[in-house]
Amino acid sequence: MRKLFCFIILVLDIFNLNAQQIYTSEHSIMGSKFMFTIICEDKTQSDRLMLMAENEAKRIENKISSWNPQSETSKINMLAGIEPVQVSSELFELINRCKNVSELSQGAFDITYGSFNNDLWKFNTNMKSLPDSALAKQAVEKINYRNVILNEEDSTIYLKDKETRIGFGAIGKGYAAEKIKQLLMNEGVKSGIVNAGGDLAVWGKQINGEEWTIAIANPDLKHSVYSFLKISNTSVVTSGNYEKYAIIDGVKYSHIINPKTGLPISGVKSVTVICNNTELADALATAVYVMGINPGIDLIEQLEGVECFIIDQKDKVHSTSNIKLQ
Ligand code: ADP
Ligand code: MG
Repeated sequence: MRKLFCFIILVLDIFNLNAQQIYTSEHSIMGSKFMFTIICEDKTQSDRLMLMAENEAKRIENKISSWNPQSETSKINMLAGIEPVQVSSELFELINRCKNVSELSQGAFDITYGSFNNDLWKFNTNMKSLPDSALAKQAVEKINYRNVILNEEDSTIYLKDKETRIGFGAIGKGYAAEKIKQLLMNEGVKSGIVNAGGDLAVWGKQINGEEWTIAIANPDLKHSVYSFLKISNTSVVTSGNYEKYAIIDGVKYSHIINPKTGLPISGVKSVTVICNNTELADALATAVYVMGINPGIDLIEQLEGVECFIIDQKDKVHSTSNIKLQ
């Protein structure tokens, strides 16, 4: 019997049947590229897990998209100033957490960013001048997270002003990455990476037992590497001006808008936040970007288990105390 057992083990080994392998898949979701990397035993198992992960991403997109008129989020927006909307506990909790980050960052990250009136001026690479500051201020008049009223008892969300709109542009990919990571972990995947348009959730180790090595993109050149980090069981999110930006009078402006002034942010090339939750990292990266170097770092230093580093316009790196870049 023992001999037979040893023989089976040997055969499995020869054919590498019980060996762990690395699998990847790519998907186009939320207008971004999502990439899943998992370590599991065979392709059948990997195919099943990848499909589950993709479906989870699509499910979240359908819930939080402000473009899809059928989404729960659109219903809240459509009934702004009219009546409270009952939502799933999942969306209620997400909005609650968004409101908390809005408060924590004193509105630098604002869940009602969608109220930004971009009819007044369109932000894109064709922009040749900054909008007039009075017009810009007018465009953000309706951004105010305090206008989002949450009623926990009946799970309703009410937007007090008829022009208030909520949107998850600055947190949606992080939220999706976090949820997909949880799902895969619950399915027994011991190790993997969820890359949601550059927002990374990483858990476990590589097959050889080493930590995962991830690359931080160079804020000037998206496809080149600025630095490598060796990590496991953490999330890394970068908000940068390498994707959507405008260059006006030689100054690069990002697509992140200061909700107080209505003007795009300059002076910071990228903000990378590292903590154990991708959703929080995503929201904080946007918040720090808006707050600027010193207030941003001060905020992150107050949060336990959260670190960040900022690359400024002159390529100087500013970071919280525990960061070790290679
Ligand atoms: P990326 O999309 O490059 O990962 P972010 O996570 O920082 O970057 O999200 C930027 C998006 O968030 C913008 O395209 C816009 O939809 C939204 N946004 C911009 N400024 C703010 C803000 N101050 N608060 C909340 N959302 C914002
Ligand atoms: Mg963000």
